[in-house]
Amino acid sequence: MGLILVSHSADLARGSAELARQMAPSVVIAPAGGTDDGGIGTSFDLINEAIAKADTGDGAVLLYDLGSAVLTAEMAVEFLDPEAAARIRIVDAPLVEGAVSAAVTAEGGGDVDQVAASARSAGGPSGDGPEPDIEASVSARSAGDSVPAPDARDQVVKATVSVVNPLGLHARPVAALIRALTGWDVQVTIGRPGEPPVHLRAVLRVVGLALRGGDTVEVIASGPDAPDAAAIVTALISGGFGETVDRPRRLAPAAMGAAPARMGNAGTLRPVGGPAIVNSVLRATPGAPGLAMGPLVRLDRAPRQLTGDDAAAGGDHDPATERDRLDGAIAAAAQKLSAGNQFEVAHAILLTDPELRSAADAELDAGGSAAAAWWSSVGSTADALAADVDELVAARAVDVREAGAAVLAELGVVVDRIPSRLQGAVVFADDLGPGEVPVLLERGAVGVVLSRSSTTAHAVIVARGLGLPMILRAGDEIGRLPAGTELVLDGDRGTVRVSPDADQAADIRRRITEMTDAAQARTQAAHGPVHLADGRQILVVANIGSLADARAAVASGADGVGLLRTELLVLDRDTYPDEDVQTADLTAIFDVLGDRPIVVRVLDAGGDKPVTALDLDPQHNGFLGVRGLRYLLAHPDLLQTQLRAICRASVGHRVSVMAPMVSVAAEVVAFRAAVEQAVVSLGESGVPFQAPDEIGVMIEVPAAALAADEICAVSDFVSIGSNDLTSYTMAADRTETGVADLLDPSATAIQRLLDQLCGFAVASGTPVAVCGEIAGMPEHALGLVARGVHELSVAPVRIPLIKELLRTQG
Ligand code: PEP
Ligand code: MG
Repeated sequence: MGLILVSHSADLARGSAELARQMAPSVVIAPAGGTDDGGIGTSFDLINEAIAKADTGDGAVLLYDLGSAVLTAEMAVEFLDPEAAARIRIVDAPLVEGAVSAAVTAEGGGDVDQVAASARSAGGPSGDGPEPDIEASVSARSAGDSVPAPDARDQVVKATVSVVNPLGLHARPVAALIRALTGWDVQVTIGRPGEPPVHLRAVLRVVGLALRGGDTVEVIASGPDAPDAAAIVTALISGGFGETVDRPRRLAPAAMGAAPARMGNAGTLRPVGGPAIVNSVLRATPGAPGLAMGPLVRLDRAPRQLTGDDAAAGGDHDPATERDRLDGAIAAAAQKLSAGNQFEVAHAILLTDPELRSAADAELDAGGSAAAAWWSSVGSTADALAADVDELVAARAVDVREAGAAVLAELGVVVDRIPSRLQGAVVFADDLGPGEVPVLLERGAVGVVLSRSSTTAHAVIVARGLGLPMILRAGDEIGRLPAGTELVLDGDRGTVRVSPDADQAADIRRRITEMTDAAQARTQAAHGPVHLADGRQILVVANIGSLADARAAVASGADGVGLLRTELLVLDRDTYPDEDVQTADLTAIFDVLGDRPIVVRVLDAGGDKPVTALDLDPQHNGFLGVRGLRYLLAHPDLLQTQLRAICRASVGHRVSVMAPMVSVAAEVVAFRAAVEQAVVSLGESGVPFQAPDEIGVMIEVPAAALAADEICAVSDFVSIGSNDLTSYTMAADRTETGVADLLDPSATAIQRLLDQLCGFAVASGTPVAVCGEIAGMPEHALGLVARGVHELSVAPVRIPLIKELLRTQG
């Protein structure tokens, strides 16, 4: 049983620990005071280290001084594995009295709950004590912490403002406010409307108000400079102190399988400069979760100029011949890429950009080789993109380089900037293409630090899927360190520690081993079925959209596939595949899945899924227009072709079909009739086929959810598409970043809809599955199965986690 004392001041934490130790010499009391660099504040790392020291298996009680310390403490506890987190008690009690009382109880052999109770009983929360007199530290004219009485020449300006950054007025923002007012003749108080204000300069008091994102703050400025000061303070607060820019988006389009090439210009501006290494730690943006440690290897940019005969820039090549060679190589590369994963398909589209091709003409005319002319065009286009201030535009530069390199490969020139052996290395690069991520892993890299990039960049999405820890927007400082410098990368927190000492390194190694062992055990265990405590079996199946996804699903222990998004197989193709091509594509996927049950969703075109070859009109085929099943019923030939292909590929497999975007039962009836028609026509044609096992529909439109009894009456099963259901219910476009906060499946409206529609399904005996993102969210999965859901369909990478959760807590 140990104690953790968290304080904004290192001295205070140390002193309290020393005092408590006098009464309890055998209890581990770990102080965690101040920031990493010894300043006033709290540190996630220091708290983490203290927890590790204090909890040796019997749990620990954590006490803190001011309101905001609890946020950091809670965050640190959240990052522990669930078992360890369950042993920690965060207690709101006066720090010194609580520490002494808790230490005495622990010394006497009390367990973690008795020690927590003892700390709690030591008195009220620290904030309840008498306010110190802060007059001297505020201003000669102020009196205590009440609003100073203005003299006759003073102006008093009152303003209210909403706090927008989630962590609110913690120490750094308050310091920024104080700095902004340096030299001004003004006094400023701050507080919640109707509550006693405190002087801005009393940093810890302001921090102690625990003003968080969404709170309203009243600012009172008095003195000759009051109007300007009030304006500055309110502007800084409503500006979020630069902390809102990277707020994670819930249910972002990429996470939902929308086409990344279509993400558009959400418009996050790139930061100016980069973060600095402070006290050996650099804090940047989390990209892909995980912990890694290894020597730094810098990845050079792809060479701007090619070397070798075939790549000669100028020369006496015949322009006509080289032009043909280049056009042939572009066509061949595009064809290969368009049969690949969603990112490769997007690269194939890039290659069709006429400007990329025509930019090579001048060099070809001057006698340059096809390879050299092409690479110059690729280089200048990529450079221009990379210089764009809009992050999502800049992120496309690596895609142009990677697609361009595929053309070079067709010309016999290989551009590979990744060293062949990276065993155990942490790689630093300016940016990466999505295809480079698996290569890094294959060659042994354990983590990646990118100086730029964004959370929605293709390489970052791939890294998350493959489990390669990644940090983004780290600036250039890491790249300037000597090659081989040992780095510790924490992809969850977005930090890089430089040259850890021996103790830190040993600790990180131990944590990595534990995490790897746990992940391996989890994946291994995922290959078995899941039964809840009551004996009910829950299928944990995969959402897939490609052959690669099918392989990942099998490797992750999927019990089957609950959603094959067929539109992802055709999204960016130039021509819509015919029945034979569709049959071949599906056969390849079904063969990987063997005899696992597979639910194939027929084409969900329109809305956020613009299928290029169908030339969809964004208005007419938009979110509220003719999309999903509506589009298919309006194009019966397209639906028949797809249903026939599905039935042909189904021979020897367990395949069901499912319709997207159903609003009313009549559409389900029409869909069933279409399936029947396809089966009859195949029977007449004599080709081998197998009729679908079951015919089901997605419930992703509020109308269908509210009338789920009518839908269930005509469906063999239903599957809840929480992504669209949330979007339509909240009237919030899932591709619009400005309303991302509304896309919260915890919202009362969504929870009520889920209650009601699951109730209808269960009452009618219709199996109900969930295939929207909510199924893979640990905080929602248990609630879904409690409502009678029998199948959760999630991204392959989440299967082990969800299976473990259901087994241990379901
Ligand atoms: C959904 O809407 O929840 C769903 C699974 O379908 P998609 O994300 O493909 O629109
Ligand atoms: Mg949907």
